[in-house]
Amino acid sequence: MAENVIIIGSGPAGLTAAVYAARADLKPLMIEGMEAGGQLMLTTEVENYPGFPDGIMGPELMENFRKQAERFGTRIMSSNVTKVDFSQRPFKVWVGEDEYEGDSVIISTGASARWIGVPGEDKLRGYGVSSCATCDGFFFRDREIIVVGGGDSAMEEATFLTKFASKVTIVHRRDEFRASKIMARRALDNPKIEVLWNTVVEEIVGDKAVTGVKLRNVETDEASDLAVEGVFVAIGHIPNTNIFDGQLELDSEGYIVTTDHTRTSVEGVFAAGDVVDKVYRQAITAAGMGCESAIDAERWLEAQHDPE
Ligand code: NAP
Repeated sequence: MAENVIIIGSGPAGLTAAVYAARADLKPLMIEGMEAGGQLMLTTEVENYPGFPDGIMGPELMENFRKQAERFGTRIMSSNVTKVDFSQRPFKVWVGEDEYEGDSVIISTGASARWIGVPGEDKLRGYGVSSCATCDGFFFRDREIIVVGGGDSAMEEATFLTKFASKVTIVHRRDEFRASKIMARRALDNPKIEVLWNTVVEEIVGDKAVTGVKLRNVETDEASDLAVEGVFVAIGHIPNTNIFDGQLELDSEGYIVTTDHTRTSVEGVFAAGDVVDKVYRQAITAAGMGCESAIDAERWLEAQHDPE
């Protein structure tokens, strides 16, 4: 028999959808993915999630979300969805060879930060290497840091980080920014921001915390070292939507297109969180959308059973 609702993905959006769907007695099946908990599993302390005045570690917050979802009867499977077929109902979702059917589906597969891929980056993630200024900027009061990237995110993060850092150096691989003029101007006019053009990071240095970066000028091939305590990588995000390509309407960057809150281009399939939202990208906004998606799914399912 088909599930009432299958939730794909288990960050703040998916787990909040699960809490609401479970409490609506929909007995949701969550397929949590191999990166269960989502991007918050990669952060250290979360200080801006309301309700935790002393802050909470990202993984602990997600463990709490998960317990709350399970408490009301969510069944959680630790696998990656490998294929979907939304062309007819019930919708089909595959994990390898195993097929699951759902009368409705909520997609909350999130987005992944794009990383530079240099030595030291992985090891020091959460220890000076971050992809989220809003989350981690506060820890860099009076420190010198770099922001990598030349788009609007890099400008926004660099400008925001000047509230805390003593100096912010933007490291960009070309000699002009991709960012909009107004955002670039705001960053360039900020006395705490300096730019290293035509420059790439070749290594992030540090044992237990970042102590510096090794740079290379791509025009002159000159190598240099810069002592910094933070590296903010702002070179874009990639929505996790590969398996939905051809099944749902995606925008030019691969994000799921929704209308009327969480409805996707296929009736009965809903989406919430960073897989939809490239603007706010916060745990609290994702959780809010997750709640909306469960309520939308519940109402939609009810209307199917009782069209009047
Ligand atoms: P983006 O516009 O794609 O810019 C990514 C930047 O990272 C580019 O400058 C790119 O360099 C650089 N980059 C990519 N891969 C790199 C690598 N491996 N090593 C070094 N540098 C690399 O991404 P985004 O800034 O995250 O913005 C995404 C979207 O959100 C955009 O549409 C943006 O306008 C929007 N956004 C808007 C606002 C706002 O209006 N408030 C704020 C944030 C984002 P190249 O330039 O050389 O390609």
